[in-house]
Amino acid sequence: MSTVELLTRARRGNTLGLRGTENLSLDWPVLIARKDDIVTRWSQGKNATPAKLGIPVLQGVGAFAGPHEVSVDGRNYSAEKIVIATGSTPARPPIPGSAYGITSDELIHLEQQPARLVVIGGGFIGLEFGFALAWAGTQVTILQSGPQIAPALDEEIRELLLKSSEEAGMVIRTGVNVTSIGRDKTVNCEIAGQTKQFAADEVLLATGRPSNVEPLRPELAGIELEHSAVKVNDYLQSVSAPHIYAVGDAAGKHQHSPVAWYEGPLAARNALRGNERKIDFGIFPSAIFTIPAIGQVGLTEAEARKRGLDARTSKLSYDSNPAAGVRNETDGMVKVVYEAGTERILGVQVIGAHAEDIVQIAAVAIKGGLKKSEVGAMHYVFPTLGGALFDTMAS
Ligand SMILES: Cc1cc2nc3c(=O)[nH]c(=O)nc-3n(C[C@H](O)[C@H](O)[C@H](O)COP(=O)(O)OP(=O)(O)OC[C@H]3O[C@@H](n4cnc5c(N)ncnc54)[C@H](O)[C@@H]3O)c2cc1C
Repeated sequence: MSTVELLTRARRGNTLGLRGTENLSLDWPVLIARKDDIVTRWSQGKNATPAKLGIPVLQGVGAFAGPHEVSVDGRNYSAEKIVIATGSTPARPPIPGSAYGITSDELIHLEQQPARLVVIGGGFIGLEFGFALAWAGTQVTILQSGPQIAPALDEEIRELLLKSSEEAGMVIRTGVNVTSIGRDKTVNCEIAGQTKQFAADEVLLATGRPSNVEPLRPELAGIELEHSAVKVNDYLQSVSAPHIYAVGDAAGKHQHSPVAWYEGPLAARNALRGNERKIDFGIFPSAIFTIPAIGQVGLTEAEARKRGLDARTSKLSYDSNPAAGVRNETDGMVKVVYEAGTERILGVQVIGAHAEDIVQIAAVAIKGGLKKSEVGAMHYVFPTLGGALFDTMAS
């Protein structure tokens, strides 16, 4: 995404006095090779850690052979406590011809950039890949089954995202019932009672990632599942098999890398020392790496009202932020949701350049219990995109 973001920005360089940037293009094989290199180097670093700590690693596919037994390639190993961290796998929806589609795992290994991509699923993964490929020149169509893309988003943020999708040349259709995918990758569907076809060179199946627990034969250990994940309590302990713990995508709370990194040590300590700490997702910043990106923490305006809170909002367009103006990145908005009277910050949503970083400042302010006006009265570095958050709280 970051490469395409740079490309998108550079292409607008004409107004900044750069010449020739409108003809920039993406070298897909180089992009994929660089991604592979980054992933390999990152994994090598991570893989070296257990050995440094003297922890033996078995390479192989594990599955339960009994409540305390795990078999790996025909050999059984037993343990008093077991932590499941087997992640998730992309869903292949039960649509006739779904075998002709690819998942995100395969898309990131494609040798060629597809000229036309149909994405089935308007959730975060479908949108992230859709935006990246669309700005990189692929003709992208997103087919979403529900009435809107990314249903959890704030309404105004979604409107701005849809506006950007138009600029990127994307087609987004909602209320779609995909009926089949042809051998030639044509996607057949019904929209508002009408039969429609979308031609594609690749079809991305982005309809969710179920937890990867069922192949472990969890029934042999008495592990109860909930929506394909291990059903755990607040200590990440299986509710039906107390000697089993689960973390990350296997525990199914939130599918985010920092969640897995946070939950892993917490579950291991709870398993070894007897439930010491509960999970806490009270303040949970997250981002969607569309172009522009979206950062969010806490409640949206709609969620706050649903909870019966007297919610007010402050909003600021990136247009009013000098750093955004200097950078020629004025498409964006900061929205702060706060409680009337107390001025408690209930949530912050940002769409625009560096939204993913700006929202982290908001997360710290919420954690520290700062009022909206207290953040608004703070000094900040000028000119910065982050300054938009302080200015929003000042208004
Ligand atoms: C396209 C995409 C984009 C994403 N973008 C973001 C993002 O921007 N930010 C973010 O925070 N998160 C993102 N995520 C989510 C994030 O990658 C996951 O939430 C995170 O990797 C979960 O970590 P985990 O340790 O639970 O599982 P994983 O990282 O999936 O690790 C599970 C490991 O278990 C191994 N395994 C599975 N079954 C067995 C078995 N039977 N025996 C032995 N080993 C087994 C697997 O091979 C794998 O190595 C993204 C995910 C996808 C697919």
